[in-house]
Amino acid sequence: MIINCERLWKMIQQLGEIGRTEQGGLTRLAFSKEEQEAKQLLRTYLEAAHLTVYEDAMGNFFGRYPAEAAEAETLLIGSHIDTVFNGGKFDGAAGVLIGIEVLRTLAEQNVTLPFHVEVVAFTDEEGARFSSGMLGSQAFIGQLTQTDLEKYSDQAGIPLVDAMINQGYQPIQLAKAKRDPEKLKGYLEVHIEQGKVLEEANAPVGLVTGIVGLRWLKINLKGEAGHAGTTPMHLRKDPLACAAELITFIEALIKRENQAVATVGQLSVKPGGINVIPAEVEFTVDLRDLSDQKLDRLVTEIEKKAERIAEKRGIATELNVIEISKAVHTTTTVTELMETVMNEQQLPCIKLPSGAGHDAMILAQVTPIGMIFVRTKEGISHHPAEFATADDLAIAAQVLYDTIIKMACY
Ligand SMILES: [Zn+2]
Repeated sequence: MIINCERLWKMIQQLGEIGRTEQGGLTRLAFSKEEQEAKQLLRTYLEAAHLTVYEDAMGNFFGRYPAEAAEAETLLIGSHIDTVFNGGKFDGAAGVLIGIEVLRTLAEQNVTLPFHVEVVAFTDEEGARFSSGMLGSQAFIGQLTQTDLEKYSDQAGIPLVDAMINQGYQPIQLAKAKRDPEKLKGYLEVHIEQGKVLEEANAPVGLVTGIVGLRWLKINLKGEAGHAGTTPMHLRKDPLACAAELITFIEALIKRENQAVATVGQLSVKPGGINVIPAEVEFTVDLRDLSDQKLDRLVTEIEKKAERIAEKRGIATELNVIEISKAVHTTTTVTELMETVMNEQQLPCIKLPSGAGHDAMILAQVTPIGMIFVRTKEGISHHPAEFATADDLAIAAQVLYDTIIKMACY
């Protein structure tokens, strides 16, 4: 292995000290002094390897390993360094530091590439402070306007634009953060899995097939309230019993579908008395899969079944799709290279979708993308106990490094 496992682990530990909370986690929010301090640390790593460092108008941070030809395309590798409140030290940070380790290794090996390689730390991926999310990468592809920026303020009432100005950025220059997609070769992101698939498969890393699409449903069922003691069972129109039947159907339906997931996370019962047959029930369904076609089919099946069960029980039903997010696929040419690298390194090549959103899904709109997941202990994330081993992170870095070398040959 060419990657310096020890050096990478040391960087993980050092960055993991910035934004420490009393609860043992990390709070490193967008446009905070902690995020600024983190960027300073990244700067020292890159400058030690004599690499150029710069930031764009949005506060996205870059380090550059240049190609011989100045007009060459740029391959981006990275992730984010902002965290959620009391989060862990691997989410985002692992991808950025692996990017830096890869750049340092390229420099040490004196590799000549036909494209520039830039490590990027996108700002405000988590959106924890401003209830936003992926603002840095959206600015980078030119999808974010100043009017958008003005919509956000944090819990203390500080507008996002003021927070940016306080950290030395100029929101008025936002448009300059947009990169010409013609000059991009692609975007490769390493991220912790934040799930248990790789751990269960005993695989250090996994190949991400895409970022799942999402449908949020709200289902409302109206029946007839009644006395729990005096209403015989056959005379009831109980919307909660109807919901129970429907939720059991949804669980069975989704279990038959490979990799799709469904969750009922909210359920309200009215009037909510211990001795009252409910009059109205409302619940949500969160549906995710890598195929938008499949998601739309599942929504239709749930809708049909809801009508049938409700009719049988004398219940009025209403189903609304309240949120749609389309699935994003990683680029086949990139994932094929990654798969070849993993085979050459005799690593198991587990292919899995990402159930969470990442900057890569924004970048996918303008350039080819590839993602590698790193095994995450017990799938725990957004929590101080979040953990990935030094060895697994180094393996991911080596896969990324070898993928870049392969990209140069094709
Ligand atoms: Zn993340």
